[in-house]
Amino acid sequence: MTRIGFIGLGNMGGPMAANLAKAGHTVQVFDLVAENIDRAIAAGCIAAGDAREALTGCEVVISMLPAGEHVRSLWLGESAGQDLLAALPVGALVIDCSTIDVDSARQVGEAARVRGLRFIDAPVSGGVAGAAAGTLTFIVGGDAADFEAAKPLLACMGQNLFHAGALGAGQIAKMCNNMLLAIHMAGTAEALALGVKEGLDPAVLSTIMGKSSGNNWSLERYNPWPGVMENVPAARNYQGGFMTRLMVKDLGLAMALAEHGHSAVPMGALARNLFNLHAAQGQGSRDFSSIVELYLDKQDPA
Ligand code: NAD
Repeated sequence: MTRIGFIGLGNMGGPMAANLAKAGHTVQVFDLVAENIDRAIAAGCIAAGDAREALTGCEVVISMLPAGEHVRSLWLGESAGQDLLAALPVGALVIDCSTIDVDSARQVGEAARVRGLRFIDAPVSGGVAGAAAGTLTFIVGGDAADFEAAKPLLACMGQNLFHAGALGAGQIAKMCNNMLLAIHMAGTAEALALGVKEGLDPAVLSTIMGKSSGNNWSLERYNPWPGVMENVPAARNYQGGFMTRLMVKDLGLAMALAEHGHSAVPMGALARNLFNLHAAQGQGSRDFSSIVELYLDKQDPA
């Protein structure tokens, strides 16, 4: 069994750390939010007073933070002036599961390499339900040998483990995926709103499209219309899933990637504008499937 340091216990990191503890590993955890640490303790993890304490005695450390600036700040000490990487024993494996920009992933990976550590970027797909069920997809960038070394631990949290390529490749593949996710979520919301406005039952329409050529993950596994599915954010007023503001972040990362390679991404750009508009209307903290509300008629106050 492995002693693992786990930093970032939010919607995703919390259940991921819990699954590692459930598999019998010793999981030392830290988050800035005390309630998140309490939940992890209840799931069998061990609380640490700060990130440095969480890493004590660990051969493997995992971070699951919102964005590149958090990951750089944690590992490179940009804000706190501390060098956490230097606190790890030579040869330790650092696994960053956050979805972040490729440059930050490469920067932290390179800093780790210079200190004799191993680093992989390992963003995930599958949502909060996948994190809780241990069925996430891991999309890994880095050395093949480090991917192999990480596999037994990743398998405690996920079902599909992919090596996308060299350092940063995990993030590139994840951005392509999330741009497509944003496009089919917005498209699914639009199609459902169209049918419902013309008198169709959203559950019946979902079943029909789910067995037809319009089927997709947003429709089948993460239906945005309230009352169609249980155990999805739409069933709980869009709380506790993948926040709209995180989707906006990912679409920004995809656009930066497109800019870098002069790639045309017209559908992605449109999706980014839709989710930006939704976030700007005060919806940034709600799950991204609440985009469906953009398509609903509002009462005219006049
Ligand atoms: P979240 O905001 O729920 O969790 C992030 C956690 O990090 C918070 O609990 C926060 O307190 C903690 N944190 C931030 N800075 C910290 C620091 N310096 N030290 C310790 N803890 C710190 O976000 P999430 O939904 O869990 O997403 C995490 C990452 O996973 C993001 O990059 C996101 O894009 C990605 N992701 C999310 C989903 C999803 O469905 N929610 C799915 C796939 C990937």
